[in-house]
Amino acid sequence: MIDRILVRYGDLILKGKNKKTFIKTAIKRIEEKLDFPDIELEKHHARLYVVLNGNDPDEVINRLKKVPGLLGFSKVARTTKNQDAINQAALELAMRIEKNTSFKVETKRADKSYPKTSQEISQLVAAHVLKNTDHLTADVHNPEHILNVEVRGENSYLYIDKIEGLGGFPLGTMGKGICLLSGGIDSPVAAYLAMTKGIEVELMHFESTPLTSIESAQKAVDLAKKLAAYGIGNQIKLHLVPFTKLHETLLKLVPEPYIITIMRRMMVRIAEQKAEKTHIPVLINGESIGQVASQTLESIKVTDNAIKLPMLRPLDVMDKNDIVKIARDIDTYSISIRPFADCCTVYVPRQVTVSPRVFYAERYEKLFDMEKRVQETTDNITTLTIDTKTNLDLTMHGLTVTEALKGAA
Ligand code: ATP
Ligand code: MG
Repeated sequence: MIDRILVRYGDLILKGKNKKTFIKTAIKRIEEKLDFPDIELEKHHARLYVVLNGNDPDEVINRLKKVPGLLGFSKVARTTKNQDAINQAALELAMRIEKNTSFKVETKRADKSYPKTSQEISQLVAAHVLKNTDHLTADVHNPEHILNVEVRGENSYLYIDKIEGLGGFPLGTMGKGICLLSGGIDSPVAAYLAMTKGIEVELMHFESTPLTSIESAQKAVDLAKKLAAYGIGNQIKLHLVPFTKLHETLLKLVPEPYIITIMRRMMVRIAEQKAEKTHIPVLINGESIGQVASQTLESIKVTDNAIKLPMLRPLDVMDKNDIVKIARDIDTYSISIRPFADCCTVYVPRQVTVSPRVFYAERYEKLFDMEKRVQETTDNITTLTIDTKTNLDLTMHGLTVTEALKGAA
């Protein structure tokens, strides 16, 4: 009976040419995401039907829920415009509503020459449903469910519930950003939020194997795999930055309270260098103010002082509870809490300054050949394309990422 999914687009406050681009891009993203046999898309100006042709509506909706730019969905039953047929379809949909709930019928007619008014159709449908069920009541003011009937052309379309989508904008309408991805809880959530706003995200992970464990680099791969589900064609890029040598240098030369500060500044410089090479206009990270000593306003200032590109911080003023909730929803939480230290948690200095100064940071950066090291490290980045089916286990092939990638190749 349910033979199609109605898709509503997201932020359609957009007008004119932007609106056209938005819809065109959204449709492309949907086509890439729905690699099921026989799926058809029926395009109407402000909405879209996915015609199922035998595919499971729930499976299709689960995919659509991961496409940024879509406001929501409904499972639609199509029938003729004959009143008995409408009544019958309405009853079948109503039977799926849970017990003891109230409903209301709302009808729209595109064809005003149709012999009955919307009001009349609604009344007939409601009466038919009430007569043939005993688990529903009618409530026109405050119903728990709305049974929608739309009569258009030779057909009528019926649906009950609206399922929420991600909202935001389709990927490809807002340009790209590089998100610094640690193995922690926050940065995958930051990447996800940026993606739901239509930013095409590439991930960058700084790995210090064997100073840090190979399992911690594996976390980045596994997190990327989860985030790929929201990416174009279920894919996402992961840049692995060999950070060990630089990390060792910093541990050796930089005074303890400034190690984290300088490490951050080096990371953002490398990310910026990579971004500029590929014309990516922004960086993104998972910092949230006050969470740890290195996330004070003063620290943010000193980090951002090292680069020219803007750093988006989608989580900056969010509470940890809300971040964790999203991490659970997108299924990254269980990966993030695996107990393997990354470069910011291993050898954490006992003393960390909460109010670093640019003056000192710059002074300590003169202790090594800063620019050369940024260049050299950027040149040695390995980029992987991760998709939702990637089966890459670095931990099988050695103690360093370099070894492991060779082994896995
Ligand atoms: P997260 O949960 O994302 O690790 P956090 O609150 O633990 O965040 P920090 O560890 O202080 O914060 O790191 C702040 C931000 O710096 C991270 O959100 C991430 O964007 C970036 N970052 C830290 N370590 C790495 C790393 N090894 N590789 C890439 N980015 C990193
Ligand atoms: Mg962290």
